[in-house]
Amino acid sequence: MNTMPKTSPNAADFAYVRDWVFDLDNTLYPHHINLFGQIDKNMTAYVQALLQVEPEEARALQKQYYHEHGTTLQGLMLHHGIDPDGFLEQAHAIDYSALLPDPALGEAIKSLPGRKFIFTNGSVPHAQAAARALGILDHFDDVFDIVAAGYLPKPAGATYDKFASLHRIDTGRAAMFEDLPRNLKVPKALGMRTVLLVPRNLDTVHLESWEQPTAEDDHIDYVTDDLAGFLSAIVPA
Ligand SMILES: [Mg+2]
Repeated sequence: MNTMPKTSPNAADFAYVRDWVFDLDNTLYPHHINLFGQIDKNMTAYVQALLQVEPEEARALQKQYYHEHGTTLQGLMLHHGIDPDGFLEQAHAIDYSALLPDPALGEAIKSLPGRKFIFTNGSVPHAQAAARALGILDHFDDVFDIVAAGYLPKPAGATYDKFASLHRIDTGRAAMFEDLPRNLKVPKALGMRTVLLVPRNLDTVHLESWEQPTAEDDHIDYVTDDLAGFLSAIVPA
């Protein structure tokens, strides 16, 4: 029988953690901010212009690539040989004003013992802009992005290996925070403590089936809808 993931952290489960790894979108800021909605629209426009198709067709293809290859970018590179840098620049040309400083999150991240990383399928400029808007950028040691990953997105195992070896991370003493269940499978297999971020009011939010946590997700140690609160409970102030 599967055990549902726990929601409040047992500090002992994290006592050995020396490297803290955070996804960016819908993890370091909540799902309802919907920054990704803007990126999503930009990607649809990109596909539409590239292939000279109607918006509906562009969107369907975009989602198909996202699902099959982990990112729309990877699908576009494999099937259409596009220039990744131009795509990333256009996709991330968004308005960050919906992101407000989150001092509670900043304090919680700062208090964690050891190194902190952002590990994103987006770009470094996007991660920096978002983290800067949240007022938390200075608390991170580095950002590992899709360019550093050689454009091979999470959940590809090779990308986690690349990240871990670049930063000499002992995955047996690391924790990963993510909003996509499938992106926590490899981290768990590597011995990392895994925490899934879910939207507040989960029942009222529409998620694709593969975005939703299920009882089969036994690679997920914890589930939370409040990252700052979760981290503060690990390391009490
Ligand atoms: Mg995410």
